Amino acid sequence: MKVLTLKNPGNEPLLLVESVDDPVISSNQILVRVAAVGLCYHDIAVMNGTLTRGVKENVILGHEISGTIVEIGSDIEHLEIGQNIVTSLNAFCGYCEMCMTNRDYRCQNAQGFGHGIDGGFSELIKLAPQHVSVIPESHNLIDACLYACPIGVANEALNLGDSFRIGDTVVIFGVGGGLGIHAAQIALSKGANVISFTSSPNKLDKLEKLSVGQVFLIDDFLNIPELVFALTEDQGAKMVFNPVGSQVFLNSLESLSNRGKMIVTGEVVGKPVNFNLAEIIFRDAQIFGSSGVGTNGIRDAINLVDEKQVTPIVGKQYGFSEISEAYSAVKNKEIVGRAVIIPD
Ligand SMILES: [Zn+2]
Ligand SMILES: [Zn+2]
Repeated sequence: MKVLTLKNPGNEPLLLVESVDDPVISSNQILVRVAAVGLCYHDIAVMNGTLTRGVKENVILGHEISGTIVEIGSDIEHLEIGQNIVTSLNAFCGYCEMCMTNRDYRCQNAQGFGHGIDGGFSELIKLAPQHVSVIPESHNLIDACLYACPIGVANEALNLGDSFRIGDTVVIFGVGGGLGIHAAQIALSKGANVISFTSSPNKLDKLEKLSVGQVFLIDDFLNIPELVFALTEDQGAKMVFNPVGSQVFLNSLESLSNRGKMIVTGEVVGKPVNFNLAEIIFRDAQIFGSSGVGTNGIRDAINLVDEKQVTPIVGKQYGFSEISEAYSAVKNKEIVGRAVIIPD
């Protein structure tokens, strides 16, 4: 089978399409033919060398994996050949404290797909049955690679800390990216008044055609908190969804209403933030971090798609051999939603 291996991380990462032996499964594993793999910012950070901790040497990247079961170990009874699946984000153990409290993505005994262990940039992948969730037959299998991350991850973050109520304002930053574009749809479907921001002028046209709330372009002249307060009768946002991190941290904080919550789900540039704690104290504000989704949350995400509360947005598809184009396109913010890698 063909795999796509990261040989050399860096500004111009080297990834090679290689031929390796097909995986051989044991009696308690399944073999999945990979259909599609989302190219997450996590993969980009490993590729460009920013993220190195715990990364396997010559790793096969990709944790947003959909595919079809093609072989089943003899000990497994509840799965069938031909079923379509999406994988979990890691190979969790199922019995540690994190696994027992619906946070298997934080399993203390596991490593992440496409990080500590090989991931989905591979024609075939062997998996334990607990690491896959079956998706309905009617669902598009390419779209399905986005069910765990970013759709499940976005939904999990929006549900944090008593969340928001119908009619509350939710501000979404990075609405052109994988997390933001799905978070905006989910917040809208739950009855929020959604105000979205992007810093990519080239994405505006497409975004305005999607159901992601009112979209505004961030430029040097836009006063974001002032705009948010102007649009909310001076109330501010009950929740700010921040997948960008430090770059919009102050704007996020200053856009919050009294008792507002900021959920930080990403840090793109890796810079520290200086801010006045009074901004939190006098709002009774809360700041949360959120970074994953467990098996229950993946099921919730499948249901959200099934109920048409969210539409997976695949911006562009690339073959294994086009990985450097995909990398540049994501880095240069050309993709609306997720770029997806397809075995070729
Ligand atoms: Zn991801
Ligand atoms: Zn565990």
